[in-house]
Amino acid sequence: MSGSQFKEKPHCAVNSAAVPNTVECPSCGAVLEIWSDEDEVRCKDCNTCVVQKNAI
Ligand SMILES: [Zn+2]
Repeated sequence: MSGSQFKEKPHCAVNSAAVPNTVECPSCGAVLEIWSDEDEVRCKDCNTCVVQKNAI
């Protein structure tokens, strides 16, 4: 077995500006976690794509 290729992840600069938010799925009401630098998140329950309304 030769499956021990440990690729080091590039140490990207940590975007400290991104913070986790929560959005409510308009379809089923589930509370979803979305990062502030993401535009949308898919609901884990009903697969609805919830767009973050966070226009700063
Ligand atoms: Zn949902």
